[in-house]
Amino acid sequence: MSQLEIKNLHVSIDGREILKGLDLTVKQGEIHAIMGPNGTGKSTLAYTLMGHPAYTVTEGEVWFKGQNLFELEADERSRLGLFLAFQYPVAIPGVTVANFLRTAVNARRRAVNPEDKGIPIPEFRKMLQEQMNLLKMESSFAGRYLNDGFSGGEKKRAEILQMAVLKPEIAILDETDSGLDIDALRVVADGVNALFGPDLGVLVITHYQRLLNYIKPHFVHVMLDGRIVESGGPDLALHLEEHGYDWVREKYEEMNGQPGR
Ligand code: ADP
Ligand code: MG
Repeated sequence: MSQLEIKNLHVSIDGREILKGLDLTVKQGEIHAIMGPNGTGKSTLAYTLMGHPAYTVTEGEVWFKGQNLFELEADERSRLGLFLAFQYPVAIPGVTVANFLRTAVNARRRAVNPEDKGIPIPEFRKMLQEQMNLLKMESSFAGRYLNDGFSGGEKKRAEILQMAVLKPEIAILDETDSGLDIDALRVVADGVNALFGPDLGVLVITHYQRLLNYIKPHFVHVMLDGRIVESGGPDLALHLEEHGYDWVREKYEEMNGQPGR
């Protein structure tokens, strides 16, 4: 069974430490949610796992399928079965959603077999249609130019569809701004719920407790000041919705004898 294992991860930006020893393991068949107030390093975690060059790993390790994640290029991470949302955030006028997805599928196939001639178009169309049916997406969406004038919800739709055709083993979704847009939240939640199963592990990073009204995580983690300071089951999300983060912060400050951020 595949798992993503984060051990004592420390990450700095411009010499300032943002992640200060983060531990987390996500396995196939599990949904994890990381929540926490703004500025605690949630997106830093997502960008670091993506390999964004601005984020320097100063200590700790991340393992995926027995490989050191930081020794792999972004495309190698993807081919191994790790999916990171926002890998292609830019608009690509002239490239349709379908063409983009076929290129991604073919890249994956060539990684397995360099001689691969690519997925036959009829086979690809059938598979794409099946996935779009599963996700209740309109067929016309596949013919749109990728991210060209997309709404927040449509960007999420493209992202979830990419996840559906690539069939990753572990998917990481950072829902940075999507809480502002209820349509986008629903797309992500419905997508995760439709695609989830024993072969998929999901890590949802979110500031918005609302998202967890639609996705039911098995594990909920609270992040504060660059670390996970509290973990629990789905009831932890409900508790946070009712009581906010202050009690976690107080508990953390008592534990450390110093103020958290
Ligand atoms: P969150 O996603 O939990 O809101 P972030 O990971 O975005 O938190 O930010 C954590 C801290 O790192 C913040 O203090 C933020 O200002 C800082 N930070 C994030 N990205 C950068 C960056 N590219 N350059 C400088 N500082 C950054
Ligand atoms: Mg963020």
